[in-house]
Amino acid sequence: MRRIDLKKVQTARLATIRDINRQIVLNYVREREPISRAEIARETALQRSTVSAIIDDLQTEGLVEEIGEGESTGGRPPTLLRLRTAGPIAIGVAVTPSVTTIATSDLAGRVLGQKHFPTEADPDHTFARVVECIEEFLKSKNGSIESIGVSLPGLVDPSTGTAIYVPYFKWRELPVARMISSATNLPVTLDNDANAVALAELWFGRPEVSDARDFILVLVGEGVGTGIVFDGQVYRGERGAAGEFGHMIIGTHAPVPCSCGNRDCWEAFSSERAALARYRTSLRGPESAEVEFKQLVDRALGGEPQAKAALENTALCLGIGISNLVVGFSPEVVVVGGEIARAWPLVESALRETIEHSVRRGLPSARIVASTLGDNPTLMGALSLVLASKFAAAAAA
Ligand SMILES: [Zn+2]
Repeated sequence: MRRIDLKKVQTARLATIRDINRQIVLNYVREREPISRAEIARETALQRSTVSAIIDDLQTEGLVEEIGEGESTGGRPPTLLRLRTAGPIAIGVAVTPSVTTIATSDLAGRVLGQKHFPTEADPDHTFARVVECIEEFLKSKNGSIESIGVSLPGLVDPSTGTAIYVPYFKWRELPVARMISSATNLPVTLDNDANAVALAELWFGRPEVSDARDFILVLVGEGVGTGIVFDGQVYRGERGAAGEFGHMIIGTHAPVPCSCGNRDCWEAFSSERAALARYRTSLRGPESAEVEFKQLVDRALGGEPQAKAALENTALCLGIGISNLVVGFSPEVVVVGGEIARAWPLVESALRETIEHSVRRGLPSARIVASTLGDNPTLMGALSLVLASKFAAAAAA
């Protein structure tokens, strides 16, 4: 799904002109709302009659609505348009190693309803509960929900909707999309969590990320994943397997084993689990045994020295991997998502330190920013699998 660059729309000539023009108009409404037909015609250099016909179609499809009149610039005051966000249009299912979240959202990505439960290693149990939650949403809402996006913490083939390998639960070749769509009669789009979050940053992130054509999203959770965006499009590689940098080797004797079992992977040094292991080692007391990562972040933000040190040391390791990615890809921006982003003031300098090290050797640098998606980027990722397809250029690539 290619994100349309409104600054160079003339490049969008590959699909049919009609589809492309429709996407351009819908994206103008999305990004510049409230906007009038005349303004869209002026900015896109499309014929006024073409814009009006497209807006008629978009209104019929329930994607755009009129919201009254704007200021007159002499003649009749223009009618202003915006995205129609009256009801739920998407369901997102974000499976993480600990929790599965199911939510509905409107066309602009605002979450309207949300349910969650602890993820179970038995996929039949987990996806039966997912289906139950989806059916509750479908029953309680009007019938505008058209499809479901699902993100998983592992290797996923989006073209077949299959989970190739999810290391936490040892799920292999699991037909997740089929399991959900056969029970709900709705189409299901499946993707890896980091790819989905990258897609969400591209479409629904703040401009410091979404305006970049090339960026790398680093998702830190129980594991570490990356989503790579080239030229406004998530790069997936063969069978969707690109971005498995969590398993690049950055050292030996990591504080925890990686989800793949090795102790030399980036993830084993830089994940939430790694930070917690460092924290427990530094405390050595029984009070550290049951701490969750969220509490570790709270304690660090509250000024507790051991918690701060555990996060800073984890950020240094995270920075080593990011530095390798920056040297290799030279992206405009690196985005760090996950709970650790909440501790940005504490981890930012440790992250920058390693990257600046590379710059001093004359190698490429990049801006490094916290995720701009709010407190549940993984859920936004799952929702974006549905929402972005409404706005993306029709298979231009
Ligand atoms: Zn690994």
